[in-house]
Amino acid sequence: MKCKTCLLIFLLVFTSLGGYAQQSLKEIELIWQNYDRYREPAIKSRLFKHSDLLPLMQKHVQSNLLINEIIGESVEKRSIHHLTAGKGKTKVLFWSQMHGDEATATMALFDLFNFLSANDQFNALRGKILNNLELHFAPMLNPDGAQIWTRRNSMNIDLNRDAKNLATPEARALMNLGKQLKPDFAFNLHDQSTLYAAGKNTKNPATISFLAPAYNHLKEMNAVRTKAVQLITSINRAMQTKIPAQVAKYNDTHDSTCFGDTFQGMGISTILIESGGYQDDPDKQFIRKINFYGLLTALDAITSQSYLNEEPKTYWALPINNRSLHDLIIRNVTIQNDNVNLGINRNQSLSSDFMMMNYRGIIVKIADLDSSFAYQEIDAHGLSLVNGRTKMMTKAKWEQLTSSKEIKLIKKGYLFVKWKNESSPVGPIRNRILNLTNAEMHFKPTFATPANFILVKEKNPIYAIMNGFLIDLSAKAKPLVNTMGY
Ligand SMILES: [Zn+2]
Repeated sequence: MKCKTCLLIFLLVFTSLGGYAQQSLKEIELIWQNYDRYREPAIKSRLFKHSDLLPLMQKHVQSNLLINEIIGESVEKRSIHHLTAGKGKTKVLFWSQMHGDEATATMALFDLFNFLSANDQFNALRGKILNNLELHFAPMLNPDGAQIWTRRNSMNIDLNRDAKNLATPEARALMNLGKQLKPDFAFNLHDQSTLYAAGKNTKNPATISFLAPAYNHLKEMNAVRTKAVQLITSINRAMQTKIPAQVAKYNDTHDSTCFGDTFQGMGISTILIESGGYQDDPDKQFIRKINFYGLLTALDAITSQSYLNEEPKTYWALPINNRSLHDLIIRNVTIQNDNVNLGINRNQSLSSDFMMMNYRGIIVKIADLDSSFAYQEIDAHGLSLVNGRTKMMTKAKWEQLTSSKEIKLIKKGYLFVKWKNESSPVGPIRNRILNLTNAEMHFKPTFATPANFILVKEKNPIYAIMNGFLIDLSAKAKPLVNTMGY
């Protein structure tokens, strides 16, 4: 009799939990569809700075969502903030951008604040989250790095290798916060290379990669790490509906200088989320949305404790990150009677005013690329590579060139312009198609040189590769983000 009652209670609780999980998944799907309502409009690109975040934090203090506490200063005296929301028992800590040039999750955290402070048909869900959880956030832990878009802080130290030495004020602020809060869960939010694939022999990028860091060198499991694995399994299931087969996991080799590994060892179930690449999303605005969705899914799974029903094997079955992608691959192109494959990457660097991203296209592989893939690939079978020539013209004439005139010059074999009687700028040239040069030299594309050349079919130009960007010469002419001045 007693046991039958137990069974009945168990079934009631279990089915109501299941019902709750179903209901909230439907709600999160609706929130996904209405994401633009919550997307923080003041953050338009990933190149925002510390000074852009201060008024946004203030906005949410005024809306009574957040308590804002300054827990330290960066080396260059920028404030490091600890934001608190909710009044539940379970503590969850999120920190982002400890690497200054990894901004995707910071954007998503501010979208999440907008969701949590809104007043609409999702009040029941946000009420459950804020009543059951105590949320802690340390967004942009490395504001000095973010200012100039670099990984390290201004002492040139990688904050995620400073969990042991605590040589930097930023790492000390995070360690103090972790020790003071002793959260149940922690989220360590990063960006990874866009050139990681989700496993071997796939062209799918690892748009998101997870890790439940190991707390010791033996990579053993305990209850703390198992909870992290189970929660990842919940987030992964949701993410697979949006980015199928584009989720991977990091290698779990233990590193005691990393915060994730250290926090896991301190009894905090810690989850690393890395934002990678996604097709046609160079500024990572779709991946920002994916982050928002994943974080909200995590909060819901912690609130409902639905993650406890997850099988860890789903996590272990995730493919391992594999650095096998390029931005552009040209297969089977003929270079002087040889059949060759070219792998081209567009390296990124911030403009000198720190406000725009520039690209520099480089030929990084001339090889058998059978197990490599790219965001953009062409089969150049029957096409031959031709070097670009240099056109002399006055600066005034260059300034008057329209995009369609630039394309006409490219079709005549010119990829570079040299100004008559004056030197031209060196470095990125915005919104043009042709490059500038100060040299008389002939440019010959080869390994580790800039990717500028023409692909011709029986002397007819079909494609041009300008600064690593592929241009279909039969399509409408439009300027590139940037070409180069050499
Ligand atoms: Zn990172």
